[in-house]
Amino acid sequence: MSAEIIDGKAFAADVRRKVAAQVARLKAEHGITPGLAVVLVGDDPASQVYVRNKGKMTVEAGMNSFEHRLPAETEEAALLALLDDLNADPTVHGILVQLPLPGHMDEANVINRIAPEKDVDGFHISNVGRLATGQKAMVPCTPLGCLMMLRDLHGSLSGMDAVVVGRSNIVGKPMAQLLLRDSCTVTIAHSRTRNIEELCRRADILVAAVGRAEMITGAWIKPGATVIDVGINRIPAPERGEGRTRLVGDVHFDSAARVAGAITPVPGGVGPMTIACLLANTLTACCRAHGLPEPEGLTV
Ligand code: NDP
Repeated sequence: MSAEIIDGKAFAADVRRKVAAQVARLKAEHGITPGLAVVLVGDDPASQVYVRNKGKMTVEAGMNSFEHRLPAETEEAALLALLDDLNADPTVHGILVQLPLPGHMDEANVINRIAPEKDVDGFHISNVGRLATGQKAMVPCTPLGCLMMLRDLHGSLSGMDAVVVGRSNIVGKPMAQLLLRDSCTVTIAHSRTRNIEELCRRADILVAAVGRAEMITGAWIKPGATVIDVGINRIPAPERGEGRTRLVGDVHFDSAARVAGAITPVPGGVGPMTIACLLANTLTACCRAHGLPEPEGLTV
């Protein structure tokens, strides 16, 4: 194994420490406490775990956490009314609606009801447009975390060839926008891409956001490239005992690490950065709401 392992867990802890320090300063100097409201509709077990972790880390960073749990059968109109209240509440600087929503709700309609300046997930159509046109935006947390790690590793990304595998609104597309903004030459690959392996082998930066366990092997990677693995896939792990599972990324770690220059592991790579960036975005939203300077190094 030759690649440097990018320690996302340590990086995320550092981001959370920086957020907490700036939150403490905001309180001391301005008497302001950033607040994050998380809305969960229904009782999806994975979503419950995410929401609990988000609340815990929000409080640990010194911010206010407001949790709103609604039953699965809630009418969309009731959810929209709650969002209107949160939009109008000056103690709430960030609003996150945990996805996926129950099938009877129109996800785009709900997300676009959040005030764009409080949309800490960066999914509101106005933030998507702002990011694409180079204006100040709220940037989706997972790609923001990936960009922070890439900038930390390389300094400038200017002129690098970047390939993003995956074109979702949550990861692939905003990731490509951020890399373009940092002057990479960006290609987005997806399920219809021809010669995808060859294409990936041209990348100085390869971001995998596919949702297919260990699809990208060492043979797809240019020697010395930086590999960012966003994928989170649970696969059977009979070696750990009957019925046991383990988490793997979209990249086959062992073969990729023999070729890459640097690589994020799964778990412990991109994953921890997502919540850290959510806290950073909440702090940024709070600073913007109060006309204060934005937190340094925590936004783009
Ligand atoms: P989506 O399912 O929304 O998108 C997957 C993308 O991968 C699509 O654009 C799809 O192409 C493409 N794709 C699927 N199969 C192939 C293939 N064989 N070859 C090339 N491209 C393919 O997933 P998300 O973007 O939401 O998530 C991607 C992964 O990242 C998942 O494992 C998810 O769990 C993980 N994730 C991790 C986060 C974290 O915090 N670390 C946060 C968010 C997601 P097409 O559009 O043509 O169908």
